[in-house]
Amino acid sequence: MQTVRQKVIGGHLLLLGAGALIGWLYGHVDWGILAAALVGLGWNLRQLLRFEAALSSKHFGSLKYGDSIWSRLYSRFTYQRQSIKYYRKSYRRLLKEVRKSTNAMPDGGIVLNSDFEIVLCNKAAQALAGFRRKKDRGQRVDNILRDPAFRKYLLSGNFSEAIEIRSPISETGWLLCRIVPYGADQKLLLIQDVTERRRLSAMRREFVANASHELRSPLTVISGYLDALAEDSEVPEAWHKPLLQMQTQAYRMNNIVAELLELSRLEGAGAAPIDEIVDVCGLLSAAKKSVAGQKGVANVAVDCQSDKKLHGSSGEIESVIINLMSNALRYTPEDGSVTMTWQCDADGAELAIVDTGVGIEPEHVPRLTERFFRVDAGRSREEGGVGLGLAIVKHILERHDAKLVIESEPGNGSRFACHFPLSRISDIEQVSTVGKL
Ligand code: ADP
Repeated sequence: MQTVRQKVIGGHLLLLGAGALIGWLYGHVDWGILAAALVGLGWNLRQLLRFEAALSSKHFGSLKYGDSIWSRLYSRFTYQRQSIKYYRKSYRRLLKEVRKSTNAMPDGGIVLNSDFEIVLCNKAAQALAGFRRKKDRGQRVDNILRDPAFRKYLLSGNFSEAIEIRSPISETGWLLCRIVPYGADQKLLLIQDVTERRRLSAMRREFVANASHELRSPLTVISGYLDALAEDSEVPEAWHKPLLQMQTQAYRMNNIVAELLELSRLEGAGAAPIDEIVDVCGLLSAAKKSVAGQKGVANVAVDCQSDKKLHGSSGEIESVIINLMSNALRYTPEDGSVTMTWQCDADGAELAIVDTGVGIEPEHVPRLTERFFRVDAGRSREEGGVGLGLAIVKHILERHDAKLVIESEPGNGSRFACHFPLSRISDIEQVSTVGKL
């Protein structure tokens, strides 16, 4: 079987050969070849013009048939045209499916370009935040979601976490916004309605606060009577032990109620003040002094590597230190050690409490800041623990834009580090007692 190329080249060579032969017969071989070449050129030109006319009229007539190169070009052309049609059709169908499925999503989805301008959005984005699918195309997204916290989130460029903002179209609505970068500097903004979740959590907070508040007065009365009875010399001896137990339990309940009230206050309190300056080194030294001389506790050391101060609530930071230090002492044997450090660098500051105590199994670490979570409830209760201390620490740190990082190894101790951002570090630095205290 001859290939098309062989046929075309062979045909043209044959034509030139025939021209040369006829030219030779007439004594002018060169004229013969030239005439044959002109015939070939003319034929090809005619075919080209026919093909071009067929392309514009879409009427291919005789080009459809035969075995010439032009017929082959025609069949290749129609094959490719049909493939394009087919792909275009399936692409349209796919696009329709994608559009249908994104419109069926309960969460809002908005595609943004590298300048945070809206490329497209789904129906839920319209319903949740008032995005208009056509009119808002090309607008910067923070022109629609005008919350300052959202603008700050966009500018920060750190999208590892989501933020909650008020809905721009409902006074009581709340939206959870998360940006997911993808492709060549494009972003997908996902919006979720968290109004109901926030309402339920506010209800729970209110209930806990009210219940704790209501328990406070009867507990004070009970504790008062128990204290009076414990001091009463007329109370028979057989009652001394039960009375002591009742006093201990009443004291424990008072602590639980106080901690629950503190948690409720922290949850509804917003950001910690920035105009108050906290002397962390001073608080660490005071905490160390408060346990100095106590029998049966591990050695406490303070390593103050920076004299920088913190913007926040002094009372709350003191509570963080006391909570973490008393935990460290509770879970560290007498011959162990607890070291509290304060250091600053270009990224922020770190307050760390490190102990050489019992440590924590890795599976428990992520749950430590949950309310009432205790690794060993029995032991913790015996030690006077309620399981609210670390939850309070977490909330205080959140109020200070800080994070708690816990590292621990069973049998080798734990490290509780509080990371504060630069924005919380005061520029006021005093040259004074920096170093080991
Ligand atoms: P608690 O009042 O029981 O100490 P926390 O919320 O302060 O409650 O701590 C929760 C649990 O975390 C504790 O019950 C304990 O099991 C564990 N824990 C906290 N700090 C330490 C520590 N330094 N070493 C070992 N375990 C710890």
